[in-house]
Amino acid sequence: MIGVYIHIPFCKKICNYCDFCKILYDSDYVSKYLDSLEKEINERYNGEKIDTIYIGGGTPSSLDSFELDRLLSIVSKINLADNYEYTIECNIESIDIDKINIFKSYGINRISFGVESFDKNICKILGRCHDEDMVFDNIYLTKKYFDNISIDLIYGVTEDINVVKSDISKFLELGIPHVSCYSLIIEENTKLYIDKRDYISQDIDKEMYDYIADTLKKNGYIHYEISNYAKDGYQSKHNMNYWLNGRYYGFGLGAVSYLDNTRISNTKNMSKYLKNEYLDKSEYEDVQIRKENDLILGLRMINGINIDAFNQKYNDNLLEKEIVKSLLNEGYLEISNNYLKCNKEFIYLQNIILEKIIGSQL
Ligand code: SF4
Repeated sequence: MIGVYIHIPFCKKICNYCDFCKILYDSDYVSKYLDSLEKEINERYNGEKIDTIYIGGGTPSSLDSFELDRLLSIVSKINLADNYEYTIECNIESIDIDKINIFKSYGINRISFGVESFDKNICKILGRCHDEDMVFDNIYLTKKYFDNISIDLIYGVTEDINVVKSDISKFLELGIPHVSCYSLIIEENTKLYIDKRDYISQDIDKEMYDYIADTLKKNGYIHYEISNYAKDGYQSKHNMNYWLNGRYYGFGLGAVSYLDNTRISNTKNMSKYLKNEYLDKSEYEDVQIRKENDLILGLRMINGINIDAFNQKYNDNLLEKEIVKSLLNEGYLEISNNYLKCNKEFIYLQNIILEKIIGSQL
């Protein structure tokens, strides 16, 4: 399995919580950026068949129809395997029938919308510029052409759990098969941080997490990763590849690739990227780091890590590792059907487990 991530850093407006690699949309920059992106793909992609493509950002849908057509024509040079998954991220306010038709014509088969909340007050705090009617109108429009649709939600912006209940209920009303639910993180250099916004209490955050997980489960969604829920068959293949520590190319500003056991990070400096100086750093990962990453990423999945697959990959015995034995003894981890997984009680507090794994002898 191998994926491709393509980063489109342009946004029409900068959200108050965002620390992603992004800049304000400018049509001159878009044109130059697509020139560099095309060159990067031509230079670095070796023509092999790709299982998943994910165009993320930024806001890919902030590009106008002409620019999107050009972007997708560049990406169309990538060879896709049978049963591929091809996702594009969109904002609610920047989607229309022309763009949907362009997506369809290039074989995109999954749309991921940044919704974050249906609540007017929460959208104002986060700096999102859609309203509830726009979410319903544009997702119902998209549903006429695509069945594999996901939305992102952010909870824990205020301590009012009724907002979370209402957001989940509206997600269920949309009748789409996938949702990612993230607790708000107040990152440095964001407006929320500068405005000194506080985190809500951890108890309420946990209550919200449990409410989301229980309600979605009751409604037939599989909780398959800490923050991700899907109807059966709609789990994100692209993200699963990340959690399986699989191989992927990353093209575009700030994108990361993982190829030949090497983590390759692209520059986040737009001027350099436009001069075709893509690379920032390249770090080879030895077996110890690879095993550590397999564990750290694999334990994010609710089913956990396939013990036989790990043992075969490394010609090793996972259950003989001191750190694994100790985490099993302490009840943080458990074994079920040949999978090593996080105990349900600790999924929410997984950082405690990950901190113990990092730097341990594997
Ligand atoms: S749309 Fe996404 S990438 Fe752009 S500013 Fe908002 S959160 Fe950041």
